[in-house]
Amino acid sequence: MSVDDAMAFILSKAAPIADIEDLEVSRTLGRVLAQSQISTIDVPPTDNSAMDGFAFASHDATPISDDGDIRLPVSQRIAAGQTSQPLVPGTAARIFTGAPIPSGADSVVMQEHCRMMDDGSVIISPPFHPGNNIRKRGEDVKKDTTILESGMKLRPQDMGLVASIGVAHLPVYRPLRVAIFCTGDELTMPGAALVPGKIYNANRYTLTGLLHALRCEVIDFGIVPDNMAATRTVLATAARQSDLIITSGGVSVGDEDHVKAAVEALGHLDMWRIAMKPGKPLAFGSIDVPAHDTPTPFFGLPGNPVSVFATFCLFVRPFILRRQGMTHPLLPQPVPVCADFDWLQSGNRREYLRARLNTGTDGATRAIIYPNQSSAALTSVSWAHGLICITEGTTVQRGQMANFIPFTELLS
Ligand code: AMP
Ligand code: MG
Repeated sequence: MSVDDAMAFILSKAAPIADIEDLEVSRTLGRVLAQSQISTIDVPPTDNSAMDGFAFASHDATPISDDGDIRLPVSQRIAAGQTSQPLVPGTAARIFTGAPIPSGADSVVMQEHCRMMDDGSVIISPPFHPGNNIRKRGEDVKKDTTILESGMKLRPQDMGLVASIGVAHLPVYRPLRVAIFCTGDELTMPGAALVPGKIYNANRYTLTGLLHALRCEVIDFGIVPDNMAATRTVLATAARQSDLIITSGGVSVGDEDHVKAAVEALGHLDMWRIAMKPGKPLAFGSIDVPAHDTPTPFFGLPGNPVSVFATFCLFVRPFILRRQGMTHPLLPQPVPVCADFDWLQSGNRREYLRARLNTGTDGATRAIIYPNQSSAALTSVSWAHGLICITEGTTVQRGQMANFIPFTELLS
């Protein structure tokens, strides 16, 4: 199964959850907007000054010197938050940034180009043109236009934008509840002593972090031993309590791999050998829940720590985003970067190399890769800034361009 075919199939099964909640804007970071937002006002609501300075009518500008200076009496003072009076013809208004432009004025000159005289007039130096330093009503947002689209993930600047049109609450999809557990008799929780034959459970923490980065609620079922009965029990409970189940390990074809058979017994399973490295085996399916109309989707990720990270980022993340109500963009956007490494053996699997961007003394940015690209070496992911994607059947030579997916594209 190719990466692209697996992705298309997985996305075709991702239905957005129906539950929507109304949240105060300050609490919506990272949540998915459930309804497009249309402005009922112009922003800014009136023409206003972009500078501290003087407002006047440019047709009043009769030069008093060869360099074009003009001299006008000052007839009013307008600070931000105040309202203005119509400008007395032939005068200027002292004005501050954000203050409304008085009717009759069409130009503002910043105070650094003005000189106050003792008689209360001001000398203003050119250049001045109609519209200078004036922010027009509605130039940021026009009334009745859509400022945020339903199905987008809210970022800090979107929260600010929606507040600027006076909206205090937003409808967002409720957080997805994701159940996780790690299989493996060899697993020990950090904090406990390590006895011979055991290793620490890393995947629980990688998965928890990945899910929190996507604003999911995590229901942790801990470590599940390598036996059929325990695996079935936990799967059935997790399916009742969650919107999605993710497991690590136990999906290979070894005698101690029970996840596959347990899922088949409780629901439906598609088991794939994905043409990618790291992360070949991937299980995708669903667990039937007696009281529910719809079964709970299930991902069985490989056990190797790097494979967990890669398969989550590539397959589980887009599925979660769509299930959270997101419509776009679901897939990461790679950027072309210059390779500072050779990758000369082409394979029939798509490879995701752990890579960093380095800026050299010549100012150019190039990608380097971690020396140990084993799917068991978690240091490679912790060291990296992103993944270089090497398409099936291709190679990369130093100096050629390669596709880089920054972790910022994968971890939110
Ligand atoms: P499995 O897919 O269960 O055969 O596991 C593949 C490899 O990943 C084995 O070397 C496991 O010991 C290792 N592994 C499985 N689960 C974890 C985990 N939670 N944390 C760290 N390593 C794991
Ligand atoms: Mg195992």
